[in-house]
Amino acid sequence: MTTNPYGESKVMSERTLMDTARANEGFAVSILRYFNPVGAHTSGLLGEDPNGIPNNLMPFVTKVAKGQLEKLNIFGDDYDTVDGTGVRDYIHVVDLAKGHVKALEKLDLGVNVYNLGTGKGTSVLELVHAFMEINGVEIPYEIVGRRSGDLASCFADASKAERELDWKAELGIDDMVRDSWRFEKNNK
Ligand code: UDP
Repeated sequence: MTTNPYGESKVMSERTLMDTARANEGFAVSILRYFNPVGAHTSGLLGEDPNGIPNNLMPFVTKVAKGQLEKLNIFGDDYDTVDGTGVRDYIHVVDLAKGHVKALEKLDLGVNVYNLGTGKGTSVLELVHAFMEINGVEIPYEIVGRRSGDLASCFADASKAERELDWKAELGIDDMVRDSWRFEKNNK
């Protein structure tokens, strides 16, 4: 079940791939369900720089750290989570990239679906504090109302990817905040 149109668009894409594989013998499909990709390559040369004001948490935080945005608005602190803020399964983009390589190496006929996440949830406040501590920068923030459509908590069961693809996320939230900031600092 989906909770918003964005999620529904992903389900539609999965259905299309499943139908295509059903209708075409010899089709091999691996569906990779990304959780919350963040971070950047450790070289500091490859990362994300969204146009305009970012919607997602990590790019917003890096712009605040850089002084390009004044403060982070934290959307709600009254969820039923560890500290009331939203919990997500952030995954380092390098781990995610490695998941793709494993999936291609192991591509089987038909359709296989894998969750690519760490299996560990991190709250907004935990991420913000990790960012400040690891990088030695201030992130001014304010708690505001909930964002419509947000879930309290979302994290992966990535055990199938570990079992069948021999893939497991190796990098943690400290690596993610460090690498995101290294890219943003270098990014002119
Ligand atoms: N979030 C926030 N302020 C922002 C952007 C996001 O507090 O400016 C929160 C959001 O409510 C959610 C978490 O950070 O709990 C991750 O949001 P993001 O949009 O990055 O991912 P998604 O909600 O799509 O999983």
